[in-house]
Amino acid sequence: MAEKTFPVKIGLEIHGYLDTREKLFCMCLVSGDRGLVVGGSEDMPNSRICPICTGTPGSKPMAPNVEAVKKMVQIALVSRSRINYDNLIWQRKHYDWADNPKGYQTTISGAHATTNAVGGKFKGINLTELHLEEDPAQWNPETGRINYNRSGLPLVEIVTEPEFSNSEQVIEWLKGLVLSLSYIKAVRKNAGIKVDVNVSTYGERVEMKNLNSLEKIRKAIDYEIARQVENFEKGIEQKRDTLAFDEKLGKTVKMRSKEGASDYRFIPDPDLPVMKIDKKMVSEIKKEMPEMPEVKLERLLKKYEVGEKDAKILTRNLELVEFFEKLVEFGIDVKKNMSWVTIELLRVLNYNKKTLEDEDVEILPEHLGELIRAVEKKEITVLKAKQIMNDFVPKSFSLKDHEEEIGSISREAVENLCQQVIDENAHVVEEYKSGKDASLNYLIGAVMRLSERRADFKIVTEVMRGLIEGE
Ligand SMILES: [Zn+2]
Repeated sequence: MAEKTFPVKIGLEIHGYLDTREKLFCMCLVSGDRGLVVGGSEDMPNSRICPICTGTPGSKPMAPNVEAVKKMVQIALVSRSRINYDNLIWQRKHYDWADNPKGYQTTISGAHATTNAVGGKFKGINLTELHLEEDPAQWNPETGRINYNRSGLPLVEIVTEPEFSNSEQVIEWLKGLVLSLSYIKAVRKNAGIKVDVNVSTYGERVEMKNLNSLEKIRKAIDYEIARQVENFEKGIEQKRDTLAFDEKLGKTVKMRSKEGASDYRFIPDPDLPVMKIDKKMVSEIKKEMPEMPEVKLERLLKKYEVGEKDAKILTRNLELVEFFEKLVEFGIDVKKNMSWVTIELLRVLNYNKKTLEDEDVEILPEHLGELIRAVEKKEITVLKAKQIMNDFVPKSFSLKDHEEEIGSISREAVENLCQQVIDENAHVVEEYKSGKDASLNYLIGAVMRLSERRADFKIVTEVMRGLIEGE
């Protein structure tokens, strides 16, 4: 028998946390203090709960959160999906698990459901549908504790056709999706995404649930393809299956044997009215849609003549590219001064393990603009400017407020400092005179330190040489 190759088919179900203030069916806040990650260690368990999101008997859901509906519409528009306006029935999806206090999850999906949008296409991959649903609580099987802060958070689920053929393609596509969704500020960036991945090769499809990082998704797909191919060679039939990927073991493990839509016993939720999407609202949202990464990239390349590598660095992050555009507005020659953003700004942020979108970071483009101007006018040195930037995290400031300490120092002051260094380092001066060029760097370095980097490097070099040679 000739060796057989399989058409690998991979499909995704992506759950993204919608970036809203409140939960889907109650007024509990989505996140605690500003900037705290939902479910993160600093987030007090069960601090944002009420009878509705804990499924207390007798409680009924409030009308669905309009903000969540709007974010869902934005996502439908970005993914070029066809929005369903009428007959959107909230359904109860039943299952028994500790994370599910009501015994069902409320969702705009299920058997015979009209989902929120269908038939989209994003970066070459067809989307089956997308819909709104609520997140279950968080159950820790080791402690038995349940944290309901997450219960009732609004989620969007995006389902793709099984059109991917390898893990690399999946990861690239997901990165693009997350970036586009961050441009419209539709999903909570630091909350991450949860992805169910289905893989089929020679037999029925196998689903892997709840993969919550790109790395996990990559490993799980690669493992599962290899496992299925091996099973084929052993003559094992591949049945429909649901597995979990155990990262510690590095392999997929059994979860539930079969799980068809019928098992969830979907029924319309009698406590929630049939939802309609207002066409006027959709056209309002359409008008206000921000530019997508590709459009921004094109503009950076064409209008501002930014190099391709820099343009890509900038558009990878909405806050960064917006920062850059503010500098343009500010009249800075960005082409000439690109490295202040793509290198220096990122350097200080990385060093402090911060990003521009962090709540506690406040770096104003006009402050960097001022700094660049001052360097251009030779009021301060490049080195000094970089040093000032170190203090821009978490909050930048105007040079005007620090004029005393940061202006360049006069040539006369440089001469005095050079003389002081020469006097204090007679032996190094001798070394230099006897031909050891590196000694000069030592002396210049000493002057730079004494001046707190306010001296101009070129002037120091010139003065230092002049003084030694004139001795
Ligand atoms: Zn609540």
